[in-house]
Amino acid sequence: MDQKDSYSAILQAIQDFHDKHDFRGKGGEDLVYRVALMAEELGEIANCVTKGKSREALAEECADLFILLLGTAISADIDLNHAVWHKMEELMKRPAKMIDGRIRVSRFES
Ligand SMILES: [Mg+2]
Repeated sequence: MDQKDSYSAILQAIQDFHDKHDFRGKGGEDLVYRVALMAEELGEIANCVTKGKSREALAEECADLFILLLGTAISADIDLNHAVWHKMEELMKRPAKMIDGRIRVSRFES
């Protein structure tokens, strides 16, 4: 498969996958179902880390979650590309704190 390094190319490949199996017509774009699928994949990522699996296995599970996430953007009809760049602009302005030996970037409101 051709490996294109752009958001629009990846999104189109995922749209093609949705169209191939008619996800929209067959419940595959139901948001509650998609949240459950994303939770399942996040668990598989955790499993890779906590069980010390290979980087290749971790990459595959991250890809599964990434594909589901972009598919959820398609399902919800949201512009995730715009949302990411908008959010990055905000995140770059936020402060960072060390909490229990780990950095955290947040608004730290309460
Ligand atoms: Mg998986």
